[in-house]
Amino acid sequence: MPEFFESRAGKQLLALIASALILWSVGYGWHIQIFNIFRSLSVPTIDILVLSVFIVGLASFVYSLLRIFDLRKEMQRQHEHARRAHWIATHDHLTRLPNRYAFEKFEILQAPSNDEAPRLPIATIFSIDLDGFKKVNDLVGHQGGDQLLREVSKRLAAFAAEGCVFRFGGDEFIVVARGLAPEKEERFASLIIHSVTRPIQVGMICCQVGASIGYARWPEHGDLPQDVCHKSDIALYEAKSKGANTSFLFHEDMQLKVSARAKLEGKLRDAIEAGRIKPFYQPLIDLRSGSVCGFEALARWTEEDGSIVSPQLFISIAEETGLITTLFQQLLKVACEDAKLWSDDIVLSFNLSPVQMEDRLLTSRILEILKAVGLSPARLEVEITENALIEDPDLAASIIDDLHNAGIQIALDDFGTGYSSLAQLARYKFDKIKIDKSFVTSLRNKGDRHEKIVQALLNLSRGLEIKTTVEGIEENSQLAYFLQHGCDIGQGYLFGKAMPASETVSFLESRDQMVHNTAAVSAHS
Ligand code: C2E
Ligand code: CA
Ligand code: CA
Repeated sequence: MPEFFESRAGKQLLALIASALILWSVGYGWHIQIFNIFRSLSVPTIDILVLSVFIVGLASFVYSLLRIFDLRKEMQRQHEHARRAHWIATHDHLTRLPNRYAFEKFEILQAPSNDEAPRLPIATIFSIDLDGFKKVNDLVGHQGGDQLLREVSKRLAAFAAEGCVFRFGGDEFIVVARGLAPEKEERFASLIIHSVTRPIQVGMICCQVGASIGYARWPEHGDLPQDVCHKSDIALYEAKSKGANTSFLFHEDMQLKVSARAKLEGKLRDAIEAGRIKPFYQPLIDLRSGSVCGFEALARWTEEDGSIVSPQLFISIAEETGLITTLFQQLLKVACEDAKLWSDDIVLSFNLSPVQMEDRLLTSRILEILKAVGLSPARLEVEITENALIEDPDLAASIIDDLHNAGIQIALDDFGTGYSSLAQLARYKFDKIKIDKSFVTSLRNKGDRHEKIVQALLNLSRGLEIKTTVEGIEENSQLAYFLQHGCDIGQGYLFGKAMPASETVSFLESRDQMVHNTAAVSAHS
C-alpha cells in the first residue's frame, strides 16, 4: 500500500484528494456566497451533498483521464521492451544476423501439412565454418576478428534473401537458399567459398580465411529446421576432414560414419581410463654399427575381444576430443618406466601430436613425468611432424626452444610429406630428420625423380649437420641404399616391428649378439 502512494498514480490520487478537500472546504466556508451565486443565476438550491458529489465526480473524471494516459504510455513502453528482448534473443549482436534460436523458429522451414507440402519450394541449408579463423583472430586481435566476422556476414548476406543468413556463434554461419535446383547447389557452395575466401582488410593487415561447407535439403533430409541443420553439420564435418575450402552434400553414409566415430570415442574414453592403451617399441638402428640406438614408442590399443584399433584412427579422435593430453601423459609415464630397462645410450623416441604444440605447458608436463620416473631428459627424443609447426609457428618455436633447453632431443617426423618449407629447417632446432617411409617404398629405379628427392633430403640434412633417420626399411636393398648414401639411423620391419616392453630386453640381447657375430666374421675375413 505505501508503495502505491509513492507511485505516480498514488501521488496523483493524493493531489486530487487534497484539491477536492480544499475545493470542498472553500465551498463549505463560502457556501452562503455560492448559494447566493447559484440563486442569482436562478439555479435551484444546491446543498452541500450536491457540491461534494460534483467535486468528487470531477476529481474522479480527471483521475481516470490521467490513468488512461499513463496506461497507454506504459503499454507502449512494454511493447518496445518486448520487441527489444525478442530481438536480443533472436539475433547475434555482433553481426546483427539472426541466431540459432531464430533459425529453429524460422517459419519458411516449419513442417508442412500434407496438403500444402507439394506447393512449398524446397530449401537448401548450407552450414559454413571458417577455416583458420583462430589464427587470424590471434593475428589481428579480438576487435580485428570481430571486424572480419562482420565482413564475412555481409558477404554471406548477398547470397540469400533477408533473414535467411544466420550466425550460430563463433565462426559458424548458416545460409538458407530457397528453391535452389539440386544441380546448382554445388556451384552455389563454391561461390560462397570464393566470396568468403577473398582477402579482407583489417586495419593495416590483409587477412584471408578459408571456408568449409556442408549442405542438406529441407524437407528431404528432415522436417524440422534443426534436423536438416544437423545433417548439414554432418556434411560440414566431412568437408572439414577433407581439408579447407571444400563442400559436401549430406549423405546417409556420413551419418553412419559419425555414429561409428561417436561410439569409438566412448570406447576410447573407457580404454584410456582402464589403461588399456599401451606403448609398444619399434627399434631404431644405428646403420653404421648395426646396434640399437633407440626405440620409438607407438601406441597400441587392443580391445577386450582381442581386436586392434589402428593408432591413426584413435589418435585422431583423441586429438579432436582433447583426450590426447591425458593419453600422452599416461603413455609417456609408462614408456619412461620401460626405458629404464635399457642401457643409458638407448633413446626413447616419443610422438607428439600437432595439437600438443598449442599447449604452453607441454615442456613442464614432460619434465614433471621425467622427474617423477627418474629418467634423464637426454634419454628422451620427441618426434614432431611438419604440420605441427604451421598452426602457430611462434608458439611452436618457443616450445621447441624450451624442450631443447631442457636437454630433450627433437626429431622432425614424416619429413617431406607435410607443408614443409626449407625455412622451417633453419628456424627450428632439430636434432634429427626422419625421412618418411613413402620415399623408401617409392624408391624403385636409380636416377628417377623419387631417388633425386631422397638424395636432396640426405644432402640437405648433411649440410645442416642434422642426423637422418629413414623409416619403413623392409628390404635389404633399401638398407644397402641408405647405408651407402650416409643415412645415420634406420627403422622398419626389416629390423623389427613395434613390440611390447617385455620383448625389448631380449631383442637388445639378440641384436648385440648379432652385431658381435658380424664383427667377428669381418675380423676373420
Ligand atoms: P609414425 O610416427 O610415422 O610411426 C611410424 C609408423 O610406421 C608406425 O605405424 C609403424 O608401425 C609404421 N612402420 C614402421 N616401420 C614400417 C615398415 O617397415 N613398413 C611399414 N609399412 N610401416 C612401418 P603405426 O604404429 O600404425 O602408427 C601410425 C601413426 O600413428 C604414427 O606414425 C604416429 O603418427 C601415430 N602414433 C602412433 N603412436 C602414437 C603416440 O603415442 N602418440 C602420437 N601422438 N601419435 C602416435
Ligand atoms: Ca614417429
Ligand atoms: Ca614417421
